[in-house]
Amino acid sequence: MNFISTRGTEKVTGAQAVVQGIAGDGGLFVPEYFPAVTGEEIVAMCEMDYPERAAFILEKYFGEYGSGELLAACREAYSQFEEGDPAPLLRMDNGMYMLELFHGPTCAFKDLALTVMPYLLQKGCELTGVKEKVLVLAATSGDTGKAALEGFKEKAGVKICVFYPEEGVSKMQKLQMVTTEGDNVNVVAVKGNFDDCQTAVKKIMNSAEKREELKNKGYLLSSANSVNVGRLIPQIVYYFSAYCDLLGSDQIKEGEKVNFAVPTGNFGNILAAYYAKRMGLPVGTLICASNKNCVLTDFFKNGSYNIRRPFFRTMSPSMDILVSSNLERLVFELSGRDAPLTASRMQSLSETGKYSVRAEELKEMKSLFFAGCTNESDTVECIYDFFTDYGYPMDTHTGVAMNVAERFEAMVEEDKDAEKHPTVVVSTASPYKFPQDVLYALTGNDVKDSYKGVKRIHLLTAMKVPEVLKEIRYKPPRFKTVVSCDKIYDEVLKFIS
Ligand SMILES: *Cc1c(COP(=O)(O)O)cnc(C)c1O
Repeated sequence: MNFISTRGTEKVTGAQAVVQGIAGDGGLFVPEYFPAVTGEEIVAMCEMDYPERAAFILEKYFGEYGSGELLAACREAYSQFEEGDPAPLLRMDNGMYMLELFHGPTCAFKDLALTVMPYLLQKGCELTGVKEKVLVLAATSGDTGKAALEGFKEKAGVKICVFYPEEGVSKMQKLQMVTTEGDNVNVVAVKGNFDDCQTAVKKIMNSAEKREELKNKGYLLSSANSVNVGRLIPQIVYYFSAYCDLLGSDQIKEGEKVNFAVPTGNFGNILAAYYAKRMGLPVGTLICASNKNCVLTDFFKNGSYNIRRPFFRTMSPSMDILVSSNLERLVFELSGRDAPLTASRMQSLSETGKYSVRAEELKEMKSLFFAGCTNESDTVECIYDFFTDYGYPMDTHTGVAMNVAERFEAMVEEDKDAEKHPTVVVSTASPYKFPQDVLYALTGNDVKDSYKGVKRIHLLTAMKVPEVLKEIRYKPPRFKTVVSCDKIYDEVLKFIS
């Protein structure tokens, strides 16, 4: 499979797309076409375990890696998860299903992709004959950073540098990142919000001059953000896997549609669900849930994407994003894969802070997606009610998705003509990653100390505390640098010298 740029004519292999991270014209790589998965193949996947399902999907995009090797890499990646099944699906007492994606090494859904991506990158370098070391850069709203650090630490031929907004992550997320071990990792706090971080990193990625300078120092730049197809493609797997689990346990019939509700920030997770649908997975509505930063909700309502608005820090920090990178890939598809139009819209976004889509594109968007947003008190109430009614504690991001999913279901319930399908809510993080806010939602109590929060949530819910979060409590912080956005390239240079 080849990958093409959303903004031009560039065409590369899967391996090249992973190694490069983003296209030379500033666009994002997308598959040349969506490989089909037939109904029979979905039935066959029901018999497979998760690594086999993953290798089956990955092979459709990364055939040049070889199916045996892909399977071995997936087995290795998903052996790092706590409970054997990296993506268990649970039936909730409100009739919905919960897809728990937080049993990996860093307790967030990012692990599903970032445990296998280092293999895709290292092997990709081999396949494309790269001689240099790879320097992976990542901007993080909290969870990508730690997952990428864990994925790439101690990997030969790779260095990784993570930038996070100084005030924009939970205490636990920060603690996880700054205690990472390994000689090839670096973590830097940036003054500003996630958008500032992401824009600054993208600027380095898009600078031919800086790429050249780094190349002369023996490094090739790549990205661990979901702009990289090495992140995006592995995320498609769990949508197929959830569907197979429903089918395999007779909760649905063959070909029956399923809705997915996804808490959304950079639009990577939900875009993978859209890709799954394009590949043939019977998907009903994609429920795009946002917090108070409701730029996507507005876009799906009126077709105009406008980032000229206040930025809010919320209790779901991994969704505190205004510039959703992966939306470019959806807009590219909706435009009928019109690269010049996509390029001009993205130029408009960076120059004026906005762009609009045509009426027929908006109509298509509305037929695929239901978008909604929550304020902080909606989220708190949803987490409290859900635990009180059904005994299940959700993290603050999953709470946003559940709240919007419940609203969607209520709307469908009222509409006699609407098609009704089972809904899967994607649970993206362990409640223990956001212990203070989750405890507040559950009890109304504020605690200053993260571990006091962890302990109280455990006493209250009896949910198991992930070992990896227990361990970091006594690890010394290793990284203390704080810089302004315009200084991050200097940090990169310092790190590799
Ligand atoms: C990253 C993240 C999100 C948002 O995912 P996107 O792919 O950026 O839309 C939601 N919840 C949690 C816990 C996350 O870490």
